[in-house]
Amino acid sequence: MTSVGTAITEGMAALADAGVENPRKEARLLLGHVLKMTPAQVFARAGDDVSSDAMQVYYAQLSDRCRGMPLAHITGRREFWSLDFLVSPATLIPRPDTETVIELAEELFRKRRAPARILDLGTGSGCILLALLTVFEQATGTGMDVSAEACRIAEANALSLDLAGRAEIVMASWSDGIDGKFDLIASNPPYIPHDDIAALDVGVRDHEPASALDGGADGLDAYRSLIPVAIPALTEDGLLILEIGIGQSAAVSEIASAHGLVPGPVRRDLAGIERAVSFYKKGVGIT
Ligand code: GLN
Repeated sequence: MTSVGTAITEGMAALADAGVENPRKEARLLLGHVLKMTPAQVFARAGDDVSSDAMQVYYAQLSDRCRGMPLAHITGRREFWSLDFLVSPATLIPRPDTETVIELAEELFRKRRAPARILDLGTGSGCILLALLTVFEQATGTGMDVSAEACRIAEANALSLDLAGRAEIVMASWSDGIDGKFDLIASNPPYIPHDDIAALDVGVRDHEPASALDGGADGLDAYRSLIPVAIPALTEDGLLILEIGIGQSAAVSEIASAHGLVPGPVRRDLAGIERAVSFYKKGVGIT
């Protein structure tokens, strides 16, 4: 029989060999996932036995991880904005970078009437919409996605986070137009330039949906299609907040300005990269 401690040591070695960055942490998370324990329980119960059935599952998952499968796809979960999200290969795995969008919304609405209606375009796992609904507790919102499977995941997340009563998930393309008016429209659209996709980390390139990453030749296709359809769906004093890729701030502002929007504050991510940009309609002013 293998002990929890030995299983962790073995897992750590395999993960380290494969170049995984935090082998100890990930070995604990993986074994904890198999044994239905928290990483802290795994740590505290190093002397417990692990059944051979559980070891088989653990080895299989270690090997998936060593071949580049994202941890979130093995455990099926990822934390975002301190909320627990279900993930699947049909959606982008929620990223810390995207929390910048929520932070910018929180900052900009601090001095304004809180948004009553929120729209998230290309909602994926639902992480932007659902996190915003926890920040703006009186709001209701819509998450739109073209993928039926993404909509299913977003709905499951709305249910598990107890937000289903305030979140409507709609399977549709923003290109077909948007019904209704929203005080806040947010999106993390695909923004990777097409030719850069091949060079992405294997976990992203092979395990996340291309439709959520590929922004066309210059990475800006989604902004060109999204911005003109979002404008008529914004209330007069509504705000549009978009996640952007590295170095895209000026180009995205130019697209928005060409459609009559006024660029507002920008927020940087933890790496210091401009990551979330905001826009509003002329004449509204922003503080
Ligand atoms: N941030 C993601 C990445 O770099 C891309 C997300 C997107 O295209 N919206 O992998």
